[in-house]
Amino acid sequence: MEKRRLGKSDLWVAPLGFGGIPIQRVSQADAAELLRLAVEKGLNFIDTARGYTDSEEKIGVGLKGIRKEVILATKSMARSGAALTDDVERSLRNFQTDWIDLYQLHNVRTEAEWAELTAPGGGLEALEKAREAGKIRYIGLTGHLPEMLLRIIKDYAFVSIQFPFNYIEQENRQELLAEIKRQDLGTIIMKPLAGGALRQAGPALRFLLQQPFSVIIPGMDTKEQIEENFAQLSQTYTKQDAELLEIEKGELGQEFCRRCEYCLPCTVGINIPGLFLLEGYYKRYNLTQWSLERYKGTAIKADACTECGVCETRCPYQLPIREKLKQVHTLLS
Ligand code: SF4
Ligand code: SF4
Repeated sequence: MEKRRLGKSDLWVAPLGFGGIPIQRVSQADAAELLRLAVEKGLNFIDTARGYTDSEEKIGVGLKGIRKEVILATKSMARSGAALTDDVERSLRNFQTDWIDLYQLHNVRTEAEWAELTAPGGGLEALEKAREAGKIRYIGLTGHLPEMLLRIIKDYAFVSIQFPFNYIEQENRQELLAEIKRQDLGTIIMKPLAGGALRQAGPALRFLLQQPFSVIIPGMDTKEQIEENFAQLSQTYTKQDAELLEIEKGELGQEFCRRCEYCLPCTVGINIPGLFLLEGYYKRYNLTQWSLERYKGTAIKADACTECGVCETRCPYQLPIREKLKQVHTLLS
């Protein structure tokens, strides 16, 4: 399979990578089977995060004996030097490996976070020490806010940057893309299907595969998804694809949940993305009765919201979650 160089590194990645969120939902045995199938098909980039519960461990077990065939990437939300040092050690243990190819700062959102990371003894210094010790090979950055990412990559020489990009999320990225090109940064594209909001996986991936990104990392938790995603590599993006995606874009608008789960935990236990997903099934997937029944059986419904607002401070897309939950409750009750 064609490989692309990840920025200025010596890592060569196949264009289709493995996003590590969904394997949290499957058993260890199934995760191992999925990973091996993907690697057999030519995938060589696997990305996960310290925050994705047991994803690192499942990957570590699943890759036993084939570790050297893949490029392993993970990321941490830790900001202090001590916490990041601990996370690197934990990732190494979980992956059952002596080295991690790419360690990324996970979702840097604010100036305060960046200041903590770059302070003497802060997280970035800890990653540099881990790199000097051979525990990690390269340092990368991930985030959701184009303006913040742009500002940060002007400050520090990362090898790669990971951010959401898909047919319906292209706005405010032109300046960032220009800077990425100028610096020759590796580009890892998360949320190629807008967190599952795009129903048409084929057109959505074909659209991205013709863009100059290093690697696209859809989450995959079934063999069928792996087969379907790989099938796109040999297909061309067409005018019909663009038309279908344009229809989806019109239906979704801007205020839709990408299921990143950063808003969780809700202070009263509402499964916020789960309820927005049900709303999507009701409105866009023609599963009205099914959605109504599922909502009826949901223990903590949207009207349990106390409007504390905590979730909204965490949502990288600034969704008006409280308002949207009211709409969900009205729709599904
Ligand atoms: S505003 Fe509502 S949904 Fe958000 S954390 Fe508070 S209670 Fe939960
Ligand atoms: S509401 Fe926001 S933070 Fe929560 S899952 Fe959706 S997009 Fe992510």
